[in-house]
Amino acid sequence: MEYHFNTLIVGGGPSGCACGITLLKGGRDCCIVDKYAFPRTKLCAGLFTAKSQGCLQSVLGQAVYAEAMRTAMMSKENTFSLFRGMKPLVTCNLTNTSEQPVALRHSDCHIHLVNRPVLDNFLIRHFVSLGGFLIEGDAVKDVDFAGKVVTLASGTIVRYDNLVAADGATSMVEKALVRHDGTFAAKGNSALCLEINVDREDYDANGVNIYFDIVKGSYAWVFAKGEKVCIGLVKLPWQKNNDVQRTMLDFCKDLGVKNMDKYPLRGAMLPFGNMMPRPVWGGNVYFVGDAAGLVEPLTGEGIYYALQSGQYAAESILEGGTERYLGKVAYLHSLISKGRYYQSLLEMKLPSRFFFRHAPHHRRFISYFYLTQIEHASLDSFWKIMWKYKRQK
Ligand SMILES: Cc1cc2nc3c(=O)[nH]c(=O)nc-3n(C[C@H](O)[C@H](O)[C@H](O)COP(=O)(O)OP(=O)(O)OC[C@H]3O[C@@H](n4cnc5c(N)ncnc54)[C@H](O)[C@@H]3O)c2cc1C
Repeated sequence: MEYHFNTLIVGGGPSGCACGITLLKGGRDCCIVDKYAFPRTKLCAGLFTAKSQGCLQSVLGQAVYAEAMRTAMMSKENTFSLFRGMKPLVTCNLTNTSEQPVALRHSDCHIHLVNRPVLDNFLIRHFVSLGGFLIEGDAVKDVDFAGKVVTLASGTIVRYDNLVAADGATSMVEKALVRHDGTFAAKGNSALCLEINVDREDYDANGVNIYFDIVKGSYAWVFAKGEKVCIGLVKLPWQKNNDVQRTMLDFCKDLGVKNMDKYPLRGAMLPFGNMMPRPVWGGNVYFVGDAAGLVEPLTGEGIYYALQSGQYAAESILEGGTERYLGKVAYLHSLISKGRYYQSLLEMKLPSRFFFRHAPHHRRFISYFYLTQIEHASLDSFWKIMWKYKRQK
């Protein structure tokens, strides 16, 4: 088999689909190739922020977006709680108007949680319904960057004018490019995440809960998600913890999860602020989403960055070029650098001591910070955030 497409997208996750759907709407032919057949499993806590919702809406249009949310939304939670170790620190009720920023008071301040395999399947099927060509269950094995040709595991040959690497944290395209061009700067090491989804009868929880100090310098989470509770943790690449599985099992034991043998631990890599400095190559190769290291390291949020960078890459292909993409993606780099700054403060003794001492007494500020900085995107400095918070009270 041999094909030729204007754009070949490797990976059918949110970054690949956002790119493919935007290209098709712009009148370009394109193909997505994914190593798995959809619906495929995908390890993800599924926290779907307001900025992810806004981006997906702009990719799909209002009516299809509403259908996607009806299909994939698992729950809408209203509490956001922080813990230090197993000890509660503070709980914010984000739907309580007295805790909301004035500017957001008329918006939906719930925390939205989606089922990723279901959402990804919806997006890929929508791509196909718009006329996109999908090759599923066949992995990219080799890329010839000079000849602009990709070889799949089945032996199929796909020629391209533009190549979009949307193949996740362990990107095969990135590895092939580093082999081809030793000067290409890859992204840094990724963090390791472990996750299980337990039945409510084995462990019950409310809202979105973040546990600091379970893993040094990062966090563990417990998200109530429909009929399940999602429990997981992140180990940063530079933190020493040789037995992260033990840490996860101890955490589940401390929570009181029953029948742990029903839930084998599953792991996946997550880029953690170590983004690719120039996620383009040679005028026709684009890196998007996790493949480009676009994950915000304070929260581990990646869905927004995947959708947005996929859309940006498609717009740049339609408008003519990789330099345009670099300009657009600089905004995502700034948001990620800001998250990296806050995350590094949490790793420092004094700032983290300050945070843990004051957080319990500033519930409204934590709600304000969460809703304005994490649910919605903002490049404001910490002092500007404080000033805005004080001024609106
Ligand atoms: C445990 C965990 C929890 C997370 N929780 C959240 C959260 O709550 N909220 C949030 O916003 N983000 C979260 N993230 C991050 C988020 O899941 C990712 O940032 C997001 O999935 C990135 O999308 P993507 O399209 O770039 O890559 P992916 O979704 O990883 O898609 C990559 C696709 O490429 C395909 N592929 C890979 N190699 C090849 C190949 N050689 N050939 C063909 N296809 C290939 C894969 O099969 C896959 O379908 C979490 C991540 C993890 C690991």
